[in-house]
Amino acid sequence: MFCDKIFESSYIKRIVQDEGVISKCKCCGENNIKCIDEKKLYQILEQIIDLFEPDEDLRDHVRCEIIDEIEDEFDVDFSEIELEIEDKLEELVERRLNTFECTLSHNINRFFKVFSNRISEEMQNEVLNSVLEHSKYYNKYLASEAWIFKFDNSGEITMGLNEIKNTIRYDNRFCINISQLFDKHYPWKLEEVLTDHAEIIHSDKKFFRARLGCEMTEDEFYSEKIAYDRENIGKPPKQKAKNNRLSPVGIAYLYLSNCINTSISEVRPFLGQLVSIGEFKLCKQIKIINFSKNNIKIDIQKDMDIESEIKKIIVYKYLQNEFSKPFDPQKVDLEYVTLQILGEFIKNLGYDGIMYKSAMGEGGNLLVFNDKHVKCIGTELVKVNNIQHDHKKYDSFSDSEIFNEVFPLFS
Ligand SMILES: [Zn+2]
Repeated sequence: MFCDKIFESSYIKRIVQDEGVISKCKCCGENNIKCIDEKKLYQILEQIIDLFEPDEDLRDHVRCEIIDEIEDEFDVDFSEIELEIEDKLEELVERRLNTFECTLSHNINRFFKVFSNRISEEMQNEVLNSVLEHSKYYNKYLASEAWIFKFDNSGEITMGLNEIKNTIRYDNRFCINISQLFDKHYPWKLEEVLTDHAEIIHSDKKFFRARLGCEMTEDEFYSEKIAYDRENIGKPPKQKAKNNRLSPVGIAYLYLSNCINTSISEVRPFLGQLVSIGEFKLCKQIKIINFSKNNIKIDIQKDMDIESEIKKIIVYKYLQNEFSKPFDPQKVDLEYVTLQILGEFIKNLGYDGIMYKSAMGEGGNLLVFNDKHVKCIGTELVKVNNIQHDHKKYDSFSDSEIFNEVFPLFS
């Protein structure tokens, strides 16, 4: 029996209040409190549990990897070794899978915030495991098996977006209607997918823009290096506007970043180079589409089609990735085209800008279509004294999307 205090989701809390019976809570030990039982909790979570499936491939992959490792290390041929080693091997597979943290209870906890922080992670997993006993899979697969998120392992949801991208690249570019193309592949309107991520940015928010180099003051006695002034740190004049992520040659939008370091890394300086930084303030609140969000909350309601909501988020995540991924400089012309068309579509819906993650660092970038909404309030000259790079050994498994993806919170 579980009381409502252990849940984060207001939706579950409501159900406990409406349908619970007075009992003792198994987690917090409180007596005479409204509780729901495991079966009821299973019914609530069923839709979520159904979003995961056991992953046989991962298990096999881990098994082969371990065998390879042992064969390498001890210079043996595994096929010649006695079978009693099987059990040991299974134990190793199990342990490795746990380090991948891909058990069902772990994944539910990771992708959907069901429980409040009041109860420990161990307890959360324990509760989920006891709930999973009511799952239709339970007899077939133990709760400790490898489970993955059902969607888009084969790219079926994002396939439509790939086709749109290829149409724009290789078939028709100037006479297409991107929302009509989208309609052909998806049950929702492109506008609807975007509007879900519309946000207001308030006018007190500050942004930065960097420009390589500086100006020289010159008078009779000495010259000094100073930052470009406010008039010369904004967007380039349209005659000089180059092909950019969201704007083709000739169309000049203002690109800003939400932190100084991101703005500096966006202009790719070398060590010791001088960079002029402009600080910008919004003159009014602006309405943007935010492609930089990590955690997306679904406000779960009764009878909601969670699966459809999640598919929509996968589409958003795909677009988010397109906005922020680093492109090969040799190929950017073609890569940018789809984003430029999407950017123009967003502008024509009446939005003032687009926020997206930087491909060059942690921060976020803000593209403002009309620079009249923004004012430069000052500039300064800085010297780049450190360019940091970090690395780790490439591992295709931890690199695969399912382990890096951040899924919606169950709110
Ligand atoms: Zn409790």
